[in-house]
Amino acid sequence: MSVAFFDITRQNQAQRVEIDSAIKQVIDSGRFILGENVTAFEKEVAAYCGAKHGIGVASGTDALHLSLLAAGVKPGDEVITSPFTFVATAEAIAYCNATPVFVDIEPYTFNLDPAKIEKKLTKKTKAILPVHLYGQACRMDKLLEVAKKHGLKVIEDCAQSIGAEFGGKKTCSIGDAGCLSFFPTKNLGCFGDGGMIVTNSDDIYDKAKVFRGHGSRKTYHYEVIGFNSRLDEVQAAILRVKFKQLEALSSARRKNAGLYASHLKGLPKVQLPFEDPAGKHVFNQFTLRVKDRDWLFESLKKAGVGAMVYYPLCLHLQEAFLNLGCKPGDFPEAEAAQNEVLSLPIYPELKEAEALEVCQAIKKHYGQG
Ligand SMILES: *Cc1c(COP(=O)(O)O)cnc(C)c1O
Repeated sequence: MSVAFFDITRQNQAQRVEIDSAIKQVIDSGRFILGENVTAFEKEVAAYCGAKHGIGVASGTDALHLSLLAAGVKPGDEVITSPFTFVATAEAIAYCNATPVFVDIEPYTFNLDPAKIEKKLTKKTKAILPVHLYGQACRMDKLLEVAKKHGLKVIEDCAQSIGAEFGGKKTCSIGDAGCLSFFPTKNLGCFGDGGMIVTNSDDIYDKAKVFRGHGSRKTYHYEVIGFNSRLDEVQAAILRVKFKQLEALSSARRKNAGLYASHLKGLPKVQLPFEDPAGKHVFNQFTLRVKDRDWLFESLKKAGVGAMVYYPLCLHLQEAFLNLGCKPGDFPEAEAAQNEVLSLPIYPELKEAEALEVCQAIKKHYGQG
C-alpha cells in the first residue's frame, strides 16, 4: 500500500454536495466581488480567532504585505523575522521596500527565538513578523515583551496556524494583526488562492481595507496607491462550508499526530515534534528531526510513503535574498533544521492504517521493523 503525502480530494468528496450548492448560489446571485459570503466569512473568522475584524484578501502573501503596510511599515524600515519559513514571509517585507532582518530559531519549535531579537534591533526596526511554523505558536509572551519594550508592531504569519493557540488565545489575535492563507494545503483551504487579515486594531482594519480596494474609500476617489487584492466571493462561499468543520479537522490532525507519536516514540534516532504546553498545536505539518534525513526520505520514497522537506534552504541563503549580505553559519539553528526536518502525511482524512504503514516504513529504515 502506498501512502500519499496529501490528498485533498477526500475532504472535498465528503463535503461535495454542500460545496456544489454553495458555488451554485454564488453563480445564481451574480455577485462575485465582495458579496455577502466574503462579509459573513470575515465576521465568522474574526469571531473564531477572538478578534474584532477580518479583511478577506487574494492570498496569504497579500495578507502579509497589506497588513505590514497598514501597520505603518515604510521604505527603509527593518522587520524582524525567521529565516526558516516559506518565502512569502520575507517577500512581503521586501514588497514594502523594507528590509527583512533574520533572527535564528529555537531548535525544538523551529520558531523565531524571542531571546535573540533584541541584539538585532536598530533605530530602523519597525515590526516583528513571527511565523507560527507547522501549526505551532511562537513564544508570544516573550515576543510581546520585547515588542512592547521597544514600541514595535507585531504581525503574525498564521498561514499554517489557524486555530492554534498560545496562552489560551488563538494565533491571529495576539499581535497587532494576523495573516491567514487559504491555499489548498493549509488547514482551511479553498479551491485556489485566498487569504485574510485578522486584527483587533480599528486603524489597521481601516487602512488594510483601503489598500485591498485600490486605495479607495469612496468610489473613484483614491487616497493612496492601493492594490486589487480581494478574496473571491466563490472562494468565500466554499470556505464557509469548510470552516464549519475546522475544529473537527484540527482534532483529526492532532489525533494523527498522537498516533505517530505513540508508534515512533521508541526510536532513538528520531526526534518527534515538540509540543509547547503553553499552546495548542494544530499540525499543519508533523515534522520529524533526524540526522540522516535524506537517507530516510529515500527509504520512505522506496516504500511508497510520501514525505516532504519544509524547508530545504533557509531564506538567508537563497539567491533572492543575497543582497542582505548573510552567509552560511549566520543562523546555525535554522541551517541545522534545513538539513534534518522531514514532514510526514498528517492531513485530517489520513486513515489509521496509512499512518501505521508510515510508522512501519520508518521503523524498518532504522532496523526495527
Ligand atoms: C502558505 C504560506 C504563506 C503564503 O500564503 P499564500 O496564500 O500561498 O500566499 C505565507 N507564509 C507561510 C508560513 C506559509 O506557509
